[in-house]
Amino acid sequence: MTTQPDIEQLLAFDRQHIWHPYSPAVPAQPCHLVESARGVYIQLASGEKLIDGVSSWWAVIHGYNHPHINKAIVDQLHKFSHVMFAGLTHRAAISLTRNLLTLVPANLQHVFYSDSGSVAVEIAMKMALQYWHAMGRPPKCTFATVRSGYHGDTWHAMSVCDPQDGMHTIFNNRLTIQHFADEPHCRFGETWDARDLDSVEALLEQYGAELAAFIIEPIVQGAGGMRFYHPEYLKALAALCSRYEVLLIADEIATGFGRTGRMFACEWAGVQPDIMTVGKGLTGGYVPMAATLASAQVGAVISQNAPGIFIHGPTFMGNPIAAAAANASLELIMDSPIVANVACIEAQLKQGLMPARDNPAVADVRVLGAIGVIEMKEAVDREKLQALFIANGVWARPFGKLVYLMPALIMAPDELEKLIRGVMKGLSAYAP
Ligand code: PMP
Repeated sequence: MTTQPDIEQLLAFDRQHIWHPYSPAVPAQPCHLVESARGVYIQLASGEKLIDGVSSWWAVIHGYNHPHINKAIVDQLHKFSHVMFAGLTHRAAISLTRNLLTLVPANLQHVFYSDSGSVAVEIAMKMALQYWHAMGRPPKCTFATVRSGYHGDTWHAMSVCDPQDGMHTIFNNRLTIQHFADEPHCRFGETWDARDLDSVEALLEQYGAELAAFIIEPIVQGAGGMRFYHPEYLKALAALCSRYEVLLIADEIATGFGRTGRMFACEWAGVQPDIMTVGKGLTGGYVPMAATLASAQVGAVISQNAPGIFIHGPTFMGNPIAAAAANASLELIMDSPIVANVACIEAQLKQGLMPARDNPAVADVRVLGAIGVIEMKEAVDREKLQALFIANGVWARPFGKLVYLMPALIMAPDELEKLIRGVMKGLSAYAP
């Protein structure tokens, strides 16, 4: 059992030397030390057992320490943990790919594995560039997207994140200039107004000849503001991309594997993207792995024209342990009514969070699938609010004006009840 002085010593070392996400090198507050995690709970060394409202940045879709995924990893570990993927392959990757292809839009036929969502986005963008190069149209080499988007923290992924309100503004003068259309305004579930696409159409009309691809998060703009938009927007965008000969990249890293109430958010619009990225929940949030999927057409064009290969090959591509975890996660998805469970979570989130609208500090409450968002009028004091959540047995991590919940997709009604109660109590005690 770790004693209090031990914990403090570990955290002091951590604070001094370990750089955490979106943090100063030495932050004002230390992190919380996790001892274990099981199901939807995180056990802190300090004694608190917290119900996890974020599923570790939306990735741990089946909960922590799941016996089926644990077993798959251990079994693979006893066979081999890694082999290079050039010239060699393995059963874990084959089985994973077979399962993945049964779930994704049917036109997607080629799967390129990588280690993180941002890298999967870089790969998607490179694929689009190579596609047009192979087509003998190298001038098609820029990208378009919508405002309020988020696609990752690496170089070109940053260039298609929101240029003003995103996290990357200080890098703007060093990023490749891309083209931004207005973000979708018609919300999910509200009346569709075709004028929402005017800005996209104007952009495609003006720049279509130089655009390699249009990249977008389908239906949910996540880290860029947790906005849910109308499926008709995505449908009309796909039609415009096809008319202006611009590839469509659907970034399903946050939305894939059931999060929005469909297996992939593209399904809301019946759209088959040319290229799609997945990550986060791919391995059930166990180990890093992402994938970029390409249509048969994109794969064929890149492969049948000079240089005849796709120029990318990460060292840990298709890592067998990650592939085994991902395959086990997909087996769980295929064997369980996960999408139906998301519908239950959605109903309960709506019922439980909507009363937050009565709080005068709250600007909006919205729910889609297993995503619940309370948008405040002002940016919150995260440390303060997080402490209140912890005092109420909840792990949640608000950002900006947004307090959001993205629980594991297997969260049971009594657990969700507890999570919602903790969040609502924390919020009502919060004064900035
Ligand atoms: N795209 C989207 C839509 C995301 O939500 C994220 C991560 N929040 C990424 C890309 C980047 O993924 P990663 O953090 O694994 O690099």
